[in-house]
Amino acid sequence: MDRTRLHHLLVREAAEAERRNPRSRAAYDRADHLFGRVPMTWMNKTAGAFPRYLDGARGARVTDIDGHEYIDFCLGDTGAMAGHSPAPVADAVRYRFAETGGATAMLPTEDAEWVGAELTRRFGLARWSFSLTATDANRWAIRLARAVTDRPKILVNSYCYHGSVDESLIVVGPDGHGAARPGNVGAPCDVTLTSRVAEFNDLEQLERELAHGDVAAVLMEPALTNIGIVLPEPGYLAGVRALTRTYGSLLINDETHTFSAGPGGCTAAWGLEPDLLTIGKAIGGGIPAGAYGLSAELADRLLGRADLDLVDMGGVGGTLAGNALSVAAMRATLEHVLTDDAFARMAKLSERFESGVQAGIDAHALPWSVSRLGARTEYRFADPSPRTGTESEAAADAELEDFLHLYLANRGILLTPFHNMALMCPDTSDQDVDAHTALFAQALAELTA
Ligand code: PMP
Repeated sequence: MDRTRLHHLLVREAAEAERRNPRSRAAYDRADHLFGRVPMTWMNKTAGAFPRYLDGARGARVTDIDGHEYIDFCLGDTGAMAGHSPAPVADAVRYRFAETGGATAMLPTEDAEWVGAELTRRFGLARWSFSLTATDANRWAIRLARAVTDRPKILVNSYCYHGSVDESLIVVGPDGHGAARPGNVGAPCDVTLTSRVAEFNDLEQLERELAHGDVAAVLMEPALTNIGIVLPEPGYLAGVRALTRTYGSLLINDETHTFSAGPGGCTAAWGLEPDLLTIGKAIGGGIPAGAYGLSAELADRLLGRADLDLVDMGGVGGTLAGNALSVAAMRATLEHVLTDDAFARMAKLSERFESGVQAGIDAHALPWSVSRLGARTEYRFADPSPRTGTESEAAADAELEDFLHLYLANRGILLTPFHNMALMCPDTSDQDVDAHTALFAQALAELTA
């Protein structure tokens, strides 16, 4: 890679973004009352000097306040995997909020059991409880795991992401031991007091850590998706399940992103048997919603414990969790939008996307790779694709990533800002995918000219 050429191209694209998006730029410059000028600080994680401002979004399309339309492969980093504002969800939400009324009345609705039963059909776990975010689903699953095992620690994979869960902000340090993840803001304590860590795909390291006998649960994505896609090697997930059983640790699958693998995520696609499962984002079709599932046996054990306050201030739950609006949105999403058929179509589109990216990589003999997990595709600046989170982290190239994101955005295509990730939704078309393939090839031609 000619770094000077890359740098010049990046400067050119940044200038083009300023030219194309003056209203977004001005809105950002005016936002003096927002911490970091944005509604949420991570919105500054954008290629270029300012974020494009949203005007509207529907299906696989986003429009900005400068009047540009984008093919959206970011899809809210999975929050909009059902497409933006899908009609059945919009109708269900409008009906619940405006017709019947009552978004948050602290009373259950009949939709909740429908959603629970559907989640059981898809993921296999027998009992469900709701949250508004995947972070909270993880936090509450962790508390339940600690309560039931009476063990203090949670084990995660290095460079995982499970939301702003304190226990998960740990990496394998250069000496092979657990260390605080760089940048952790205001850690409540030394993370090694609450957590253990092992590299993804490393069963030996996992066994060494579990052998201490103090791990309540392994919290993991069946494939890492937040540091590129790192797929499990043959036998790895079966090994994780066997080792967790041997050492008496529970297994929590976080399917928030790996839901892209199919209607029941990786858990159903690969026949996994977690003790608990967490999910968020996409299942609400754009309305805040999350859930955790547990086995009937685990649920009964927890409910039978008189010492655990599961109904008031014991640390599990939130006032708005399971509210009628959020539950109505989940039902509409699962019943009408992210259906089994939709997943089959999305996976086909994703295959097409993957082939297009691979063709571009091959045409220029770049040392890059592309990985796919159902409806989700991601390319990484390493070949072969990384097999651990740490390897994948080492393959990051911020300048190159920014160039590709800006190049595509300036020509009407959005990727996920945290990754080179492209997600398909039920409204994505072959033409959308082919538009990316053509632009990607054009960007590579400029890079390597
Ligand atoms: N788990 C996984 C696997 C995630 O990717 C994310 C968010 N990217 C979360 C949990 C947290 O989701 P939220 O920010 O909606 O709480």
